[in-house]
This record gives sequence, C-alpha cells and structure tokens, in this order.
Amino acid sequence: MEVKTSLLDNMIGVGDMVLLEPLNEDSFIENLRKRFDHNEIYTYIGSVVISMNPYRSLPIFTPEKVEEYLPGLDEAYRSLRDQDKDQCILITGESGAGKTEASKLVMSYVAAVCGKGQEVNKVKEQLLQSNPVLEAFGNAKTVRNDNSSRFGKYMDIEFDFKGDPLGGVISNYLLEKSRVCKQPRGERNFHIFYQLLSGASGDTLMSDRLFLSVLSQNAMQIVGFMEDEVQLVLELVAAVLKLGNIEFKPESRVNGFDESRVKDKNDLKEMCELLGIEQSVLERAFSYRTVEAKMEKVSTTLNVAQAYYARDALAKNLYSRLFSWLVTRINESIKAQAKTRHKVMGVLDIYGFEIFEDNSFEQFIINYCNEKLQQIFIELTLREEQEEYVREGIEWTNIEYFNNAIICDLIENNQNGILAMLDEECLRPGTVTDDTFLDKLNTICAEHQHFESRLSKNSKFLTDHSLPHSCFRIQHYAGKVLYRVEGFVDKNNDLLYRDLSQAMYKATHSLMRQLFPEGNPAKVNLKRPLTAGTVLCIKPNDKKAAHIFTDSLVCHQVRYLGLMENVRVRRAGYAFRQPYEPCLERYKMLCKQTWPHWRGPARDGVEVLLTDCSVPAEEFAYGRSKIFIRNPRTLFTLEERRRA
Ligand code: ATP
Ligand code: MG
Repeated sequence: MEVKTSLLDNMIGVGDMVLLEPLNEDSFIENLRKRFDHNEIYTYIGSVVISMNPYRSLPIFTPEKVEEYLPGLDEAYRSLRDQDKDQCILITGESGAGKTEASKLVMSYVAAVCGKGQEVNKVKEQLLQSNPVLEAFGNAKTVRNDNSSRFGKYMDIEFDFKGDPLGGVISNYLLEKSRVCKQPRGERNFHIFYQLLSGASGDTLMSDRLFLSVLSQNAMQIVGFMEDEVQLVLELVAAVLKLGNIEFKPESRVNGFDESRVKDKNDLKEMCELLGIEQSVLERAFSYRTVEAKMEKVSTTLNVAQAYYARDALAKNLYSRLFSWLVTRINESIKAQAKTRHKVMGVLDIYGFEIFEDNSFEQFIINYCNEKLQQIFIELTLREEQEEYVREGIEWTNIEYFNNAIICDLIENNQNGILAMLDEECLRPGTVTDDTFLDKLNTICAEHQHFESRLSKNSKFLTDHSLPHSCFRIQHYAGKVLYRVEGFVDKNNDLLYRDLSQAMYKATHSLMRQLFPEGNPAKVNLKRPLTAGTVLCIKPNDKKAAHIFTDSLVCHQVRYLGLMENVRVRRAGYAFRQPYEPCLERYKMLCKQTWPHWRGPARDGVEVLLTDCSVPAEEFAYGRSKIFIRNPRTLFTLEERRRA
C-alpha cells in the first residue's frame, strides 16, 4: 500500500504540501508542476488551497465533481453546519490568476451540496446569477486578463440551521471608475458598454428602447430586475456614452475670464432627451462653477480644460453610483427572507495585484488593497496561529516570515502615510499639483531617513537618483512598483461641481435623480468572520495560455505569498482547536464515563473521552484552555459517530 502511494506521488505529486518530502522551494515548485501537468490544479497547505489557473476548462467543474475536488471547501461548509462557526474564504493572487473563477466555484459548490426544493433552488439561482450581472458592469478586458475585476467584492452567503442557503449580501469596494473616461492602451471599457452596443443591429442608442445581449438580460431578470428597471439602467449607461461625445470649444474672453461652449448642441440635446433634463440647465452646468463662500454664492466661468474635467467627473460619478445602486438592488433581491439566518460564509474576491510599466493612481489603490489582504492572510495563518500555540503552552519553535505590515503603514498611516499626505494636499488651498504632492512625499520620506524611523534602512519607499521624473517607487510584497504621480491629485479629489449634481437632480429620469441625492448612503463595512479558509490563486504563465508552466513566474508568486513558511507552520501545527467545555458537551455522548454528566475539570473529561474513542495520542495536544487536533478528518469521524 505504502509503495503504491509513493509511486503515485512520484507521478502526480502530493495533494497536501504538508506531506512533501523533502520540503524545499524546488520540491515545492516541482510538486505544483507535476500536478499542473496532470490537470490537478488544487494543492493544499492544511486549510489553504493553492489553485493554479489551467486557462482551459477542465471536466472537474461540474457541480457533482466540485465536492470531490475541493475538500477544503467541504471542511469550511461542515464547520459552518456542524460546528456553528461563521466561515470566511479569502481569495488572493495577481490579476489573471483565477480568483473570480475560484469564487464562482465556491458558489457552485454551495449550490451542489445543500438542499434542493423550489425555494432553495431559487435562492441558489439568484446568488449564482448575480455574478454575470456584476461582471458585466464591473469587469473589463485588460492586458493581464480578458475578464478582469475592476472592483472588490465581498459576499456573505447566509445559511439556515440545516445548512441550506437563505440568501446573501454583497458589498462592493472602490470601482475603478476612471476606466469610464480613459482606458490604458490595449484595454477596454467595462463590458456593459459593448454589450449595449451589440444588443441590437443599427444605432441602438438612437432607438426608443435599448437592448442588451441576451445573456446579461436573462441574468438581470433572474436576479429580479423588472423590465423597466433594466431599461432605466441601460439609459444611464447610454448617457455615460453620450457624455463622452460632448466636446467643448473656447469662447472669446468675456470680462477677462476664459469661457467655453459646447461644440455641437446636438450631442447635448440627445443627452438631455435621454434623461429628461432641460438643455439650458445642463448647458449652464457645463459653463459655470458655483462656490458658496460666507453665505454668498459666487459663480465663475469654466475654461475648456475645466469643462472637460467637469464632464469626466460627471461620467465617473454617474457610472460608479449606478454600479453601487445595482449592488443595492441585487441585495434587495437576494437578501434572506423572514427566516432567521443561522450562519454565514463570506467570500472575498478583489482585483489582483498589478505591475505595469506605467502605473498610476488606480494601480496604487489596487495594490494597496492587495497589500491589506496579504496582511490579513499573514495575520491568520502565520502570526495568530503561532501566537496561539505559545499562549496555550503547546510546544512550538517559532517560524520566521516577512510581515508586510510596514508597507501597509507606509501607505495608510494617519499622520504621514502616503494616502494621508495626498488627502492633505488635496485640501490645501492654492496651487496644488501632482508635483507638489511628490515633493512632499520625497521630503517627508527623506526626513524620516535621517531619523531612524519606520522609513529608514529597511524602507519600502525607495528613492534613488535613477528614478524617472515625477515618479516614486514602492517595494510591495509582490514586487517593486514604479508609480507616476500624474493625475493623483485629481483622481483623489474627483470633484463633482455642485452645479452638475444639481442639474442631474433636476432630471425627470427617476433612477438618475435617485443617484444624486448629495450626501452619500453609508457603505457597509468589511467585517471578517472568525474562521477563515483561503484560496491562493497562481498564474502559471503570462500568456493567458493553457499547458504552459513558467518556473520563474510561479517561483516568484510562491515566494511573495509566503507559501514555504506556511507549509512549515502547518506541518508542525494543528488544523482544529476548541475550548474544552464545548468540546466535551458536544461529544460526551460517545463515552460511558462522560455521559450524561462529567464531574471534574472539562480538560480531564476530554482526555477520558478521546482515549475511550481510541483516537491515536499523537493526533492531540492539550493546551491551557483548548484541545488541539491535528487532522480535521479525526473530527469528522467523531461527528459521524455522534450522528449515528
Ligand atoms: P483579476 O484580478 O484581473 O480580476 P482574477 O484572478 O479574478 O483576475 P479570473 O478572471 O478568475 O482572474 O481568471 C482569468 C481567466 O483565466 C478566466 O477568464 C479564465 O479564462 C481562466 N481561468 C481562471 N481560472 C480558471 C479555472 N479554474 N478553469 C479554467 N479557466 C480558468
Ligand atoms: Mg477577478
């Protein structure tokens, strides 16, 4: 038997890195490669799943097979159902690594394992169909990924006590709204714009009704959008397109001020008809900016550059508000009905780390999000895990790892973090430019280098004289990234002049009015349930192609994700732990001595119980307040005996 297993291991590698012999970076990557070559795209490190993007569809993605191939998910689901624990699945990896596909797989899994029945099926279908709707509006083709997520998404799936889904809640984070106005070379706008244009032949935007590709239309229907709601949404998407057509020309100076005018009144007219706004109202809003100062309103004229700025700010605001409205609307449909929710499984899928030759504000924000996620991952799997062993008095040799907290701090520190400095610059009166912001960054970071501060020797803010003009560089956990400051101040400000939001509020278009009730609805905060499973997605090559495994690329990801450290911690560690009291309470029926009451300390009771169940001693460690169990299967055996 043993011979057979090791022969098999030789061919397709081991399913859990914890079992890898010998353990080193080469064997780790070799194992990933073997498995990849045999279409085994999942490999475990305890409860962490490593997923290699196959870039082609494998037969394993049928709902029946999902369960078989993702034992980690199975564990998460069982703990939720049997152990009464909320679960959270974090999905991380760079752009194109397969995070979104993995998150959809989690949802198909849930749909496959839990109950059937009309009502449950409807809930499942709605949860699943919320994906294509959000992807149409929030995903776009980029250099890295043809279906790249340009927003962060956290979804709670809510379950009843039987483990059947009741509904869900979606939170969205930071849509990359600048894409509406400008896309990097070789990239596209959000999918919905193309779907709208290809929805029908001829000039769809000119007809009375707008059409959408059948796929998205159906998905919207299943999620619960009424036909007229779909129409309202499409009209606003069309309005964003039309806004992009509006152009300005300089007008001769009046009273010494630069002024601008709309070039072609027809473009303006179309937009106004679509939204039910009086043409003169919109025209005025594109020409003036009103500022309230000391109870007094002062209007100044906009020059051509300012008029374009105002137009783009309106397009970006309109689109991102529409997106948030969609999420709210979807939530209304999928939220759990009257029944009380029992437990939740959260799934977090964000946009992946991006390094281009030219990186701007968008990459800065996206990479910051990834940095934070990596921080959570480190906290959970490396820091908290090790600290708990020490706290509980379990014998433990500390394992070193790189903690990226210092990079997060460089960006988010309240006083002199990069974001705080940017905010401060944006609020400062006078002539603020991207370059004054950069000067400030450089000065403050240089100052810090004199004192032995957080930005000193092991600084992650890299300054050297080879830096191109108007750039700064950060050493992120996933690599060095050069950012160009051009546009940082504007994009951070993203000021929508009041004149324009007031004009929008005057529209007869009901949805448009709803989107501009200045004073924004409060956003749902990201709260992380206690237990977490993680999926780490790895990109095998840079060509979006199947069958290619590029060692250096995989190795880079294995390193920055801290996977070797993870295996080491896992190997020496325990998969499951529980305080003595609830453990005894749950399993006391399995042993005569502990049933129905155990008199004495719970710890002793658990010891008697486990010995009586003849589980091998090396499977356990007794901590100060908790019992630690090495293999989750042991626990499942106990669960099964309990149910029998
Ligand atoms: P981003 O950060 O840009 O959103 P991502 O990590 O979410 O990237 P995905 O969109 O999930 O990446 O995957 C990119 C592409 O890779 C998919 O469109 C698909 O073609 C392919 N792919 C990813 N995962 C799988 C899989 N499990 N099976 C088959 N193809 C996959
Ligand atoms: Mg994605």
